[in-house]
Amino acid sequence: MRCDVCGKEGAEIQRVTRAYGRGGRELLIRNVPVVTCPQCGESYLTAETLYEIERIKLHRRALAARKQIEVAEFVRAPGGEARPPRALQRPARSTVRR
Ligand SMILES: [Zn+2]
Repeated sequence: MRCDVCGKEGAEIQRVTRAYGRGGRELLIRNVPVVTCPQCGESYLTAETLYEIERIKLHRRALAARKQIEVAEFVRAPGGEARPPRALQRPARSTVRR
């Protein structure tokens, strides 16, 4: 498909999971189509996709299902020095049995 940013052919659709909202009101939307262009490196959502996301958020009670999922935090600083997770920074002596 044609890229809306640079106008060249070759843009592809990738399906991603996106999170909206904060705290206990977070909403995950799966399979959101993101257009990515290998020509200019841009990735974006089309107007139709944004409209559909707004519709889903507006009608989340009817459209969203409650599911138990595992959630992890990304602990490494972007681009910076690799920082080990807090648990690895110092040995947790109290939990080690000899
Ligand atoms: Zn492009």
